[in-house]
Parts: sequence; C-alpha cells; structure tokens
Amino acid sequence: PVVTRFAPSPTGLLHAGNLRTALFNYLLARRAGGRFILRIEDSDASRAYPDAEAALQQDLEWLGIDWDLGPGRDEPSAWRQSARQDAYQAALDTLMAGGRAYYCFCSIERLRALREAQQKAGQPPRYDGCCAALDPDEAATRVAAGESATVRLRVPATGDMTFDDLVRGEQRFDASAYGDPVIRRADGSVAFLFANALDDARMGVTHVLRGEDHLSNTPLQRQLFNGLGVAPPCYGHLSLVVDAHGAPLSKRSQAAAVAALRSQGYRPEALLNYLARLGNPMPGDDLLDMDGLAEGFAPDRLSRSPARFDPTQLDGWQQQAMAAIPLSTLRGYLQIEVPAERLDGFLALVRPNLRVAEEVNDWAERIFSADWRVDPATAAGSPQPAAAFYETVARVIEATGTDDWSALRPALEAATERRGGAMMKPLRHALTGLGHGPALGEIIRLMPEPVRRLRLQRAAA
Ligand code: GLU
Repeated sequence: PVVTRFAPSPTGLLHAGNLRTALFNYLLARRAGGRFILRIEDSDASRAYPDAEAALQQDLEWLGIDWDLGPGRDEPSAWRQSARQDAYQAALDTLMAGGRAYYCFCSIERLRALREAQQKAGQPPRYDGCCAALDPDEAATRVAAGESATVRLRVPATGDMTFDDLVRGEQRFDASAYGDPVIRRADGSVAFLFANALDDARMGVTHVLRGEDHLSNTPLQRQLFNGLGVAPPCYGHLSLVVDAHGAPLSKRSQAAAVAALRSQGYRPEALLNYLARLGNPMPGDDLLDMDGLAEGFAPDRLSRSPARFDPTQLDGWQQQAMAAIPLSTLRGYLQIEVPAERLDGFLALVRPNLRVAEEVNDWAERIFSADWRVDPATAAGSPQPAAAFYETVARVIEATGTDDWSALRPALEAATERRGGAMMKPLRHALTGLGHGPALGEIIRLMPEPVRRLRLQRAAA
C-alpha cells in the first residue's frame, strides 16, 4: 500500500508552498487508496514556534486534507519527534554495531579550521574522516568516560550515488562532494537527516514528495536506510513556489500565508484547486473535488521549474468556487435578517456577485435593511436625474401593482421617458447604491415594499 506523509517543522505558519507539498502527498495516497500521515518534526526544539502546531492542523483541516495517523489520531510518540528519543537511540546503536556510524571527537575549533582551509583552497566544506578509523571499542570507552562526541554516518568517499526521483528522473551525486554527516549532536539530540529518515522507515512511508531544498539530503538518507537494512521510500522533489519577484515563499510571505488567505474569505475549494494545478498541468479548468483532483495526480508530470504563486489566478478559482457554493453553506454566513420566504431566492440571486461569502451580508443590507443608506458619493460621475424621476418610478410601481419586470420595465420607461441604462442605472443606484449587480427586476421583486419606497424617497430628497 502507498503510504505518504507531510512532515512540517513547527517553525512558523504554513504558506501556499508548504500546503502544496501537503496536498500533493495527500493526493498521491488518496489516489492509490493508501494512507497519509501528519508528522511533526520538532527534533530541533530551539526553532519551534509556539502555536505553530495547532495552526497548521487548523489549516489542513480547513482544506479537508485529512490524516490517518498524526495529532489527534494516535499517541504523540507515534508522530512527534521529540517524543521518540529512545527509538532514535536504538537505531543509532544498530548503525554503530554494524560499523555504519562512528563516534567523532573532533573539536569545534578543528572543524572550523578545516572548513576555512577548504574554503581557501576553493573546495566545498566536507568532513575529512579524521575519526572514521578510530577503534570502536576505544571510542566507546572514551565516551563512557565522559568525553564529548558526535555520531557520524559512514558514507562512500568516492563514486556515484544515484536514485530515481519521482519528479526529476534519474539523479546522480558525486560521493566525493559529501563528507560523513553528523547524525547525533554532542548534546545527544539527533539531526534532521537522521530523525526524518528513521521516522519514514518506522512508519512504512513508501513515497516522499518534498521541496527541492532537500534534494541533496536524499543520497545521504538513502545511505541511512541502507545501514538500517530497510528499503528507502521513493523520493520526489518539488520545484519551489516563488512570489511575484521570484523569491521562494517563506514563513514571512504574508500574502501567501494560509491563515491570511482564510481570513480574507478565500474558499478552501478555491485554494485547493489553485494549489493542485500550481506546477501541475491538468486538463480542464473545472472546479474539482478532492477525488477529482486525486484522480489525475501523477508526480512525473509535475513541473521541474519554479511555480509562481499568482493571486490573480487564485481569484479566478475563488470566483468559480463562489458561483458553486451551496446555498445552505452561504446561509451559514448570513447575519442580517432576511424574510424566510425570500431567503433562498435572495441567496441564489446574489451568489454570482460575491467575491467572498461574507459579502452576502452586504447584499442583505442593501436589499432588506431599512436602516441602511445609499452613500450619495458613490453616484458621482453619472448625471443624477431630478427628483421627479424617482417620484415617477415610485408611482408607476405602485400603480401597476406588479413586480413582474417584463411588464414593469416598459411602463417605467414610458413614464420616465428614459430607456435602457438611462432609466435602469439611476434606479439601480437609488435602490442598491451600486452601479452593477444582479438583475434589477429581481432586486425590485425581492426588496420589501417599505424599503423600496424609502430608497426612492431618499433619492428624490
Ligand atoms: N521537516 C522537513 C521540512 O519541513 C521535512 C522534509 C521532508 O519532507 O522530508 O522541510
């Protein structure tokens, strides 16, 4: 079975790029009928950001990205790195016993001098293997006596390290560019490289989609799996999501923070449809549900170049999402009183005009509330008809006794001697305070008679 995971470090708020990573992993599992895990990578406690964990869960839940294992589903020791130190120690012991890892006693000063010398010689920083050949028993005795040591993973010194990337195809890395990496720090905490791979092994993760910033970690992590005698997952590295200036989105990219998009009123289905297509060519541009998005998802079709987060495109999806929002959902946003018998007619009428669901209240006030007033300033620009125009309109509506627009409109045009827009535009403005909006006939039909009269009286005043 396919098992995927999203493994955020709780260091800040999720942005659209993180979220796309979560979504792609989720879609991959969902398409295959597999499992999706949420794992909290808090092995580096110093960088943790308070509340980040709760916030990211809220973001995922809001979008309907549902996890099978993770917070709220199981014991924290299953999905929280900081609760798993014992398991890491056991795996370290396995690696040491197999000669795949070793104690390193090099001081910070020695390592710094090494790096500086390499830099001067124009070489990449790389551990020189100074402690790699120490006798393991002797090293263990020194550690038992209290000497400070890190643990390093033994990786090949030369040759190619290759793997097949789910997105990028075959990847080839020159082993001589890598030194043996630290997998446990001198303070006993484990390094990201190690905890991350070990958790994937323990959780039976089969596919990892993650940012391309992790690409160079992968050959090392595959070595780790090798040392543990476990088959590594298939890795796919996603191109970064960048902002309008080409800079990668970061925890500071306010405009793309999921929480900010949510509070601006974006619909989850709009964001999902936008993100699912970001760097992922998909046929058609219909709003799809989660199954629809999962159906065609294939990592090998993902783009290898950076994907630009484009708010205008997101707005297009928002428009589609709003046009399709169920009336029952829309009703949940309504805080202004609307006569029950006109409620559904009203919601269906204004729905195509809403940018965000909250705006339903604005329309409810315009159409139903006697207290609400047209702002005269918004009429500026179009020549205002004289008071007589509004008085005539009020009289004709009353006299014809109909709210059937096909009968009312010709009667109004005849009585006011204005046709088309010349008649409708000022009338629309007098009633709703706007120059655009849903069909005027429908507005007149929905608007309670006293409110209509009031609006026309005020326009005439
Ligand atoms: N905690 C890592 C990150 O947030 C996870 C990397 C991975 O998915 O393997 O970048």
